[in-house]
Amino acid sequence: MPDGERPVRPDAGVPLAPLTTLGIGGPAQWFMRAATADDVAAAHRWCRDRSLPLFPLGDGSNLVIADAGIPGLVLQIAIAGTLFAPRRSETVVRVGAGEPWDRTVEATVSHGLAGLECLSGIPGRTGATPIQNVGAYGQEVSNTLVDLTAFDTATGRLVTLSADECGFGYRTSRFKQRDAGRFVVCDVGFALRYGPPTLVYPDVIRYLQGAAVSSPTLNDVRQAVLAIRRTKGMVIDEADPDTRSVGSFFTNPVVSAGVHADLADRAGGPVPGFPMPGGQVKIPAAWLIEQSGLGRGYGRGRVGLSSKHPLAIINRGGATARDLLDLAVLIKRRVEDRFGIGLVPEPVFAGFGDDADVAYLVERRL
Ligand SMILES: Cc1cc2nc3c(=O)[nH]c(=O)nc-3n(C[C@H](O)[C@H](O)[C@H](O)COP(=O)(O)OP(=O)(O)OC[C@H]3O[C@@H](n4cnc5c(N)ncnc54)[C@H](O)[C@@H]3O)c2cc1C
Repeated sequence: MPDGERPVRPDAGVPLAPLTTLGIGGPAQWFMRAATADDVAAAHRWCRDRSLPLFPLGDGSNLVIADAGIPGLVLQIAIAGTLFAPRRSETVVRVGAGEPWDRTVEATVSHGLAGLECLSGIPGRTGATPIQNVGAYGQEVSNTLVDLTAFDTATGRLVTLSADECGFGYRTSRFKQRDAGRFVVCDVGFALRYGPPTLVYPDVIRYLQGAAVSSPTLNDVRQAVLAIRRTKGMVIDEADPDTRSVGSFFTNPVVSAGVHADLADRAGGPVPGFPMPGGQVKIPAAWLIEQSGLGRGYGRGRVGLSSKHPLAIINRGGATARDLLDLAVLIKRRVEDRFGIGLVPEPVFAGFGDDADVAYLVERRL
């Protein structure tokens, strides 16, 4: 053990369901928290010496954990700290991976820095935001992320990755695809500017018009986003059972303009769509699900769809991971039968090995 390093003493058999927003899943074989990048390095060595996998955990808000739990060491990243470094026309805000994401947004908004305000109310920790390039209401972290520091488990070293090296896409990155599980994010840097808020999303514009706010501030947009999200069960609230979810369970499919046009024939009418780069069209998965006969509030025993949003699968009480997979498979099959589009889940599945239902769910078929 290198000098000054804290000993690695993980706990065995720690229940993980309470550490997730769904409240589903079995225990961690081993569990501990990392407060520094050195803790991450030490945990990695501990795993390597025992040939055990290491699984980084944030707040479990984008995670479906198997009923059997997660093998190896689950390392909850608790690295704290936020630094504001002014640099000519912008300020680089460097945030520890363990900082609650909404606290990061609130701090930048209260400093008058634009760029993250539309991402208010998204649950989870800052270090997880690059994993799926979190986004909402017209912003994604990739719009402002400059670089991040991560522990590379392939080389055992701390590396700095620029935004270009992160391979960001719509709700994805290299950390979710080709390099899933390789990097443990330790801190994230955002380059933000003093300026007006982003105001592109129709819901937000309508909300502010309704509130008679003519020149919205960053905080006006933050409060509007929080209010809109609450009506959709998209802000974690212990008192609201519709928030026992991972947020949107499926991503919005992105298809060619031709496929989008053909869908109108199948649907017997116009199909909503938002233009994307390269002439592609993003179709709301919520619309596809509702048009397939599974509306908000749909129940199936211990799981169901949120009464506020058809894209959120919720734990209605005592659900297992298998209950959840059964409903997710049913939704994917229904949409596939009706529209020929294979929805792809947004959350990460952990501890499922080669489970056939998970394999079917993550398969990309458009
Ligand atoms: C009610 C609700 C609303 C939501 N709304 C949105 C939304 O609007 N937009 C959106 O994009 N997402 C949304 N989400 C999904 C989720 O909040 C985000 O994906 C969030 O960034 C996950 O953070 P977390 O700390 O909970 O990560 P976890 O769920 O703990 O982990 C998710 C994945 O990231 C990995 N990971 C976590 N931390 C690290 C780290 N430091 N280094 C490396 N890997 C790591 C994990 O291994 C896992 O693979 C929502 C979820 C809920 C429950």
